Amino acid sequence: MEVKVLKNILSANDRIAEKNRALLDENGVLALNIMASPGAGKTSIIMSTIKALNGEYGIGVIEGDIASSVDAEKVSREGIPAVQINTGGGCHLDANMISDSLPDLPLDKLDFIFIENVGNLICPASYALGDRRRIIIASIPEGDDKPIKYPIMFHDADLIVLNKVDLAPYVNFDRAAFRQAIKNLNDKTPIIEVSCTTGEGLDEWLTWLKAQKIK
Ligand code: MG
Ligand code: ZN
Repeated sequence: MEVKVLKNILSANDRIAEKNRALLDENGVLALNIMASPGAGKTSIIMSTIKALNGEYGIGVIEGDIASSVDAEKVSREGIPAVQINTGGGCHLDANMISDSLPDLPLDKLDFIFIENVGNLICPASYALGDRRRIIIASIPEGDDKPIKYPIMFHDADLIVLNKVDLAPYVNFDRAAFRQAIKNLNDKTPIIEVSCTTGEGLDEWLTWLKAQKIK
């Protein structure tokens, strides 16, 4: 019974996600669903990207958090249109929340929308939002076993960003084991190593991002 109920919720969610995707496509906007555990650096990567692109592309941001609007405020200070979604305790974003947020963004002026999902490596993977790319951010201090513990999340990713590589000398993190675990799930997913603190690897990430732009 439980399974059937969940299935209905998910298919209703998929229909709304499809509408979101159609609206974004019409406007030539590519949405990226950014997922990670809390503290992996989702907001930091969004902020570094905004600063590096420096107005070269139209960027909008949807921030998902259980409470607070600190992340949307950070983004707004850079002059970037941002919408904060507070899930009121909910541990993931769903397509309906995105559908409610899109009218608040100037879609005709945007190339990319970064959707920062709620920090959680479990259920965000089950909810389509209307995005066309799924990015997982992992970070060195979390340990190299995350792809083994959260296989669905890592299996479905279009890109995996490994953040905080500047901390590698101080933490026991086996990069080869991390890469092998991802390869075992999906051998096509690229992995880009970055540090938002030192700027290392950000060029590679920006090159990947620019190549995704809808022409
Ligand atoms: Mg954040
Ligand atoms: Zn959830």
